[in-house]
Amino acid sequence: MAEEKSLNFLEEIIENDLKSGRYRSIVTRFPPEPNGYLHMGHATSICLNFGLTKKYGGYTNLRFDDTNPTTEETEFVQSIKDDVRWLGFEWKNELYASDYFEELYLFAIKLIRKGCAYVDDSDSETIAAEKGTPTQAGVNSKFRDRSVEENLQLFEDMKAGKFKDGERVLRAKIDMAHPNMLMRDPLMYRIKHAHHHRTGDKWCIYPMYDFAHGQSDSIEHITHSICTLEFVPHRELYDWFIEQLDIFPSHQYEFARRNLSYTVMSKRKLLQLVNEKHVEGWDDPRMPTISAFRRRGYTAAAIRDFCDRVGIAKRENVADLSLLEFCVREDLNKIALRRMVVFDPLKIVLTNYTNENELVSVEDNPEDTNGGFRDVPFSKELYIEQEDFIENPPKKFFRLFPGGMVRLKGAYIIKCDEVIKDDTGKIIQLNCSYIPESKSGNDTSNIKVKGTLHWVSVEHAVTAEVRLYDRLFKAEDPSNEEGNFKDYINEDSLQIISTVYGEPALKNAVAEERYQFLRKGYFTLDKDSSEEKMIFNRTVTLKDTWAREVKKV
Ligand code: ATP
Ligand code: MG
Repeated sequence: MAEEKSLNFLEEIIENDLKSGRYRSIVTRFPPEPNGYLHMGHATSICLNFGLTKKYGGYTNLRFDDTNPTTEETEFVQSIKDDVRWLGFEWKNELYASDYFEELYLFAIKLIRKGCAYVDDSDSETIAAEKGTPTQAGVNSKFRDRSVEENLQLFEDMKAGKFKDGERVLRAKIDMAHPNMLMRDPLMYRIKHAHHHRTGDKWCIYPMYDFAHGQSDSIEHITHSICTLEFVPHRELYDWFIEQLDIFPSHQYEFARRNLSYTVMSKRKLLQLVNEKHVEGWDDPRMPTISAFRRRGYTAAAIRDFCDRVGIAKRENVADLSLLEFCVREDLNKIALRRMVVFDPLKIVLTNYTNENELVSVEDNPEDTNGGFRDVPFSKELYIEQEDFIENPPKKFFRLFPGGMVRLKGAYIIKCDEVIKDDTGKIIQLNCSYIPESKSGNDTSNIKVKGTLHWVSVEHAVTAEVRLYDRLFKAEDPSNEEGNFKDYINEDSLQIISTVYGEPALKNAVAEERYQFLRKGYFTLDKDSSEEKMIFNRTVTLKDTWAREVKKV
């Protein structure tokens, strides 16, 4: 039986809230800003928010946090929805913070009426200077004590477009000497004459994050509003607005951002990689985005498993990319179809072989008890990997060498009789003999060999391109290194092998199906493939080769 996992701190809070009757059921939300593609950090937040309502009942909303008119794009909205669904989650409501603009505007008026908000004519420099410092109280703006009527009029004028960008702001009236800097009369609204992707030109005033997020939560009756640690100081303001407005008491909880080793995880940085062409796009298989993971062949189950294993923390940390790859391997080992593909061919000729049109049967997936078998054509001329033959082998080399024997996967035992070289001394062919009574599944030869090689019949081989990926950065935490994170880009993160030779079944490869190329790694068909040319991405190697290298050093 699976070990009982202890509760994380959010599960503890929720169980207590349900037990005490504070909430009858829970509602969470995933609130992406549609200004980029989702990355692994978002996947953590998605698994967390949707995972909690899956476990405790209730539901999760997908809310696009689109209060900033200048950065949002509709393209991102679609990709975000695709990614959440692909990860295996379904939201209850698809919502947009911009749909609340009218309600938020009325909330602002309510606060003005209560004497809790005022219009400030000061420019941004003055406002910043008057804010004080963490050790020094700020000073009140000279516009702070305007009458309610004047504030209402000015706010209406702001909305009506009577001012230019930056000429007025609406501020909450709290305390300019408050120990929490965010409570020193924070901005609620700013003027921005900009086109919004949903509301068009209807608004020229836009609410600030702090005056939009908590209120949107409250409107949706979100019980547990989960965000990352940098919002801890915002919580006091979150609570203040809700209390002053006397609206549904949503609560904010914070956990540590998910970082992943050997990559960066901020949309701003990922955007630089895309714009400056360090990668080919948001879904370049080397990127830490969900769309890149999908293209590369990672499975949603593996990503969910990874999020589960890492759990959530209250302190910043960097999760190990190797653990993610481990989860991917675990899943792929169970589901990937096995195929034989030779990357660097060495031709062998079976001199005593005379059968015609022989097929050998090879299992599609030995890990799958219901897995089937496929027929693979066998013939007199075959390709094996160059590296599987050494003329003067070291001790314990169990592959092929002059006079040595190996099994060809699913087929026969062969013996290397003769090495053929060209004028330059390069090995171009091996003449071998096969043992007819050694056929897999019906082996009466009594010969024991230690090595089994993958192979492809020359005559039947299909060709493809493969793309091998390595980590995108050389440093474990490029954002925390000296200098610019881009100084640590791994220039050798993509290796293309333009022609590999596969068994004929490879021709039937379909998108989203996962394959294990025997002894080579896990692969999936890339979207760049065409009728003429198949292209495969290496999803992950069979073993953690990198960890092995570290041990060697
Ligand atoms: P970025 O800095 O990459 O732009 P963000 O926090 O601005 O990230 P949003 O689209 O605003 O991105 O985030 C949507 C949700 O995903 C938020 O609730 C946010 O807390 C969460 N999230 C974003 N990045 C991470 C991360 N690295 N780890 C955990 N949660 C994250
Ligand atoms: Mg953001």
